[in-house]
Amino acid sequence: GEKHATNLNVLAEEYLKLSYHGLRAKDKSFSADFKAELDPDLPKVQVVRQDIGRVLLNLINNAFYAVNEKAKSGIEGYKPEVIVSTKKTESGIEISVKDNGNGIPDSIKEKIFQPFFTTKPTGSGTGLGLSLSYDIVKAHGGELKVSSKEGSGTVFTLKIPAA
Ligand code: ADP
Ligand code: MG
Repeated sequence: GEKHATNLNVLAEEYLKLSYHGLRAKDKSFSADFKAELDPDLPKVQVVRQDIGRVLLNLINNAFYAVNEKAKSGIEGYKPEVIVSTKKTESGIEISVKDNGNGIPDSIKEKIFQPFFTTKPTGSGTGLGLSLSYDIVKAHGGELKVSSKEGSGTVFTLKIPAA
């Protein structure tokens, strides 16, 4: 694919809605709060749109999946929430996808970026999302990092340098 100057606010918001409605279509019991906190001054970055789009969609799908799993475990007063935020940084832009799901246990944190690693039941996940995402972000000269606390949630942060 070819790189194009792109405002990722548009993709971030679109994929947040797409992912939410996609999961709801498959699972009528699913619902969650979600919001996009978008930096109005986000600069455009040079990206292969389809590729960075896949990264965003995978991170957001993972986040909704995580909050849905926690919701299904029936914790009283739990309100599933996913927040996507964008911001301009010194070196480019940063997009984070935050959920208040169950988090990632330390014992598997090292493995989540490996191809075919998944904790999802057969048919629900290929385990390729994060490994592919990592490669795509690297190919853009960027970074993909995770911060997670078991029991309280996860934040994936994607950095893409300015052209
Ligand atoms: P898949 O979604 O097909 O399982 P991924 O590569 O996208 O594959 O993710 C690999 C694994 O990383 C998931 O199966 C899950 O165990 C963990 N993971 C990813 N995102 C989250 C998240 N937001 N919260 C909790 N666990 C996560
Ligand atoms: Mg995935």
